[in-house]
Amino acid sequence: MTDPITVLVVEDEPPIRRFLRTSLSAQGYRVLEAESGAHALELLRGRLDVVVLDLGLPDMDGLAVLEALRRHSAVPVIVLSSRSNEKGKVRALDLGADDYVTKPFGMEELIARIRTAIRHRFQQQGERASFSTGGLDVDLVRRIVKLDGKEVKLSRKEDDILSLLTAHAGKVLTHQFIIREVWRTPTDVQYLRIYIKQLRQKIETDPHEPRYILTELGVGYRLHEPD
Ligand code: CA
Repeated sequence: MTDPITVLVVEDEPPIRRFLRTSLSAQGYRVLEAESGAHALELLRGRLDVVVLDLGLPDMDGLAVLEALRRHSAVPVIVLSSRSNEKGKVRALDLGADDYVTKPFGMEELIARIRTAIRHRFQQQGERASFSTGGLDVDLVRRIVKLDGKEVKLSRKEDDILSLLTAHAGKVLTHQFIIREVWRTPTDVQYLRIYIKQLRQKIETDPHEPRYILTELGVGYRLHEPD
């Protein structure tokens, strides 16, 4: 039998902590708990497979915990954010958090995010040669994109953006992350929006109701999970 996946829950509110402990244990995860940033920093030294991190902690900013962690560890981090802390959530993603859920959240949503983050972390870069979700097929080696079996011609930039989204399928990517990776120079978010719009016109069955490239309002974009 393999070791259970260990989740560190960093959250100061006892009812949420209890809820997470009960639900995650029921899924077979081993759960460690920290009620403060200081306690989290202690537990971060041990072996962990994923961290669920509340940004609003009593003794320190959750972002400071994340920064400290990223100095020595690439463990997947899912941030718990409140509706009133949109900026904190984007900042957390830019600091290397893998994903976020907004409070109040459903357990299914959190568990899906945890699974995606773990899978993504263990996946070798470039290991995936092709990607399919619904009617969308992307051949990453030959750079061929098909929608419902018909080949779609993409411009160089559109292709770069789709390849990046595909490499991180299921994960939210911030505007700044995409711009950094695709343009490599500071570029207005508006350009990214224009390219996403063009891309959707080519690869979405209904560009106004996108099913593949999903908008994360105020944050960035997420490509639908692969089939
Ligand atoms: Ca809190």
